[in-house]
Amino acid sequence: MSPSEPTPADSADPVDITARLVHADFAAGAEHGAVHKPIHTSVQYGFARTADLVGTFQGTVKGTFNYARQGTPSTQSLEAKVTQLEAGLGTVSFATGMAAIAAVFMTLLRAGDHLIASRYVFGNTNSLLLTLQDLGVQVSMVDVTDAGQVAAAARGNTRMVFLETIANPGTQVPDLRAIGTLCAQHGWLYVVDNTVTSPALFQPKGVGAGLVINSLTKTIGGHGNALGGAVTDTGLFDWERYPNLFDAYRRGDARQWGLTQLRKKGLRDMGGTLSSDSAHRLATGAETLALRQAQTSATALALAHWFEQHPAVARVAYPMLASHPQYAWVTELFAGGSWLMSFELRDASRLESVLDRLQWVIRATGLADTRSLVIPVASTIFWEAGPAKRAEMGIADGLIRLSVGLESLATLQADWAQALS
Ligand SMILES: *Cc1c(COP(=O)(O)O)cnc(C)c1O
Repeated sequence: MSPSEPTPADSADPVDITARLVHADFAAGAEHGAVHKPIHTSVQYGFARTADLVGTFQGTVKGTFNYARQGTPSTQSLEAKVTQLEAGLGTVSFATGMAAIAAVFMTLLRAGDHLIASRYVFGNTNSLLLTLQDLGVQVSMVDVTDAGQVAAAARGNTRMVFLETIANPGTQVPDLRAIGTLCAQHGWLYVVDNTVTSPALFQPKGVGAGLVINSLTKTIGGHGNALGGAVTDTGLFDWERYPNLFDAYRRGDARQWGLTQLRKKGLRDMGGTLSSDSAHRLATGAETLALRQAQTSATALALAHWFEQHPAVARVAYPMLASHPQYAWVTELFAGGSWLMSFELRDASRLESVLDRLQWVIRATGLADTRSLVIPVASTIFWEAGPAKRAEMGIADGLIRLSVGLESLATLQADWAQALS
């Protein structure tokens, strides 16, 4: 197929996301025939006719930009790619994953609403949920590996369910399909943070998610060189039934109402805008998403099997291991286990000396880089929680979190073998 055809995506192999991404800019007619989308740094956008300037404000002129806080051609191009990846209706990008999550909570929930959230969420998301409670939103944090706990938490004022596909560091996987069914039955907005799996391994739309969040910083960007976040509307949620939309945004195609409110309130008013430079880096990184996810999932699974057999290791948490509690639905839903795993040393007193001996794996915070990254969990990211809370959450002193990079299995296995010996 010639890439000069106007919309190669329409005829491409539906699962060849790499072809769709690498041809997207040229197919969309990037300026001067450029095959990579240029970086647009202009903050202001001018118009030849006043009527067009007025029309951008009133929403009657479409496809224009007026002020970069609400987006630029560079962020729009990235948003279109994320929309394709998630098979969605549209996407709004943000400065970070946390800005994307905050925008969903702050612009779509109101004081007096009830939110059901996973007990197993990213630490900063957990902290944000506490802020949300202070602002008057009721939050129930439940064990989402059991859909019955979600059903039991239902209240008359429940509006939204929020969870992550694979939790960090424990790798718990929610009963995504059953919870999707519950959300559909009750008319709740189902919000899925797809950061760890990414659309290369799982599309939350398939289990009924209305909104999908990706921290672009992690799997989609993949190179640890830019922060970003995205909220994608899958088109499944009926916004006409959602009470928390401002009248100004209940105009025209009802399918767009949620995205309009997210963009107007989340970007225009709250200002958590992604820069064009970062959008460009993230879009470039995304081109190798499918390749990286296939590679890191294969390496991580082989390493997880190897750790399971290692005498110094007490237990391993990785979704694609048969020993994982949610293995049955993981293998049905996900095309791979991704780059995240955790494992526990039998002798916690050896933890720092083991990690200090690693020569390739970098002792660092952060996830989903091209390099493997490792961190002791109890003494760092869960230190603030204190010993009682850690015990309740199953965070042992010897727990290690590993984010698997692009090094070969042989390189990583040899490094861990010498470090654990
Ligand atoms: C890192 C992370 C976030 C936050 O993303 P940032 O881009 O770092 O703000 C949100 N959710 C999950 C699951 C994450 O791992």
